[in-house]
Amino acid sequence: MTAPLPQQPAEHVERVLCVLAHPDDVDFGTAGTVATWTAAGTEVTYCIVTDGDAGGFDETPRDQMAALRRAEQQAAAAAVGVEDVRFLGYPDGRLELTLDLRRDISRVIRQVKPQRVVTSSPERMWERIGASHPDHMTVGESTLRAVYPDARNPFAFPELLDDEGLEAWTVSEVWLGASPRADHAVDVTEVVDRKLAALRCHVTQVSHMSDLDGMLRGWMTMIAQRFGLPEGRMAEAFHVVHTA
Ligand SMILES: [Zn+2]
Repeated sequence: MTAPLPQQPAEHVERVLCVLAHPDDVDFGTAGTVATWTAAGTEVTYCIVTDGDAGGFDETPRDQMAALRRAEQQAAAAAVGVEDVRFLGYPDGRLELTLDLRRDISRVIRQVKPQRVVTSSPERMWERIGASHPDHMTVGESTLRAVYPDARNPFAFPELLDDEGLEAWTVSEVWLGASPRADHAVDVTEVVDRKLAALRCHVTQVSHMSDLDGMLRGWMTMIAQRFGLPEGRMAEAFHVVHTA
């Protein structure tokens, strides 16, 4: 008996939902990949769980941070072809794995009906601790629990069906960013300028970084090399989980 070939992600899907903890998370790790999808006609929705109100580096008044960061994320989304950005409004830095969070993510999954969900890895990256902010791991685990079993089980959170008419939905693939077991790279070389434009929209977060472009190009070049892409290419990497 021969072992089955590893399952590849779908070539093309109609709808993708990205669920991330903070404004800018999607742009650092995934915006290049998102730009390739929107260019191919895939509809992409962002669901940002917190307003990033604990982020920043300067004297920006704290009570303005949430509104500023929502606006920055909306602009960054537009730079890679995403119009639909939803905020769940949880407090930054204090996320816990709760049934409320699972229900709120399940609601968005049932509303958007994505074939593919992108989120953060619930597993810690031991060699780069900054990639594994506790909020990121909490959102990753909550999203996986929403994908299976909550969103697909009509009897889970029955109020979603009874009060809001949201039918059960089964997501086919989950792509985990910043994963210690990344197994799939997306060549983003052709869309790198759009990704960098998206990142620069996060003024409250990145405007003090003198070589943001160089840093990002360096990371993405290393990922491309690790996955055996040709010299000079840049990539983003994911752990693809088949969830149908
Ligand atoms: Zn973050």
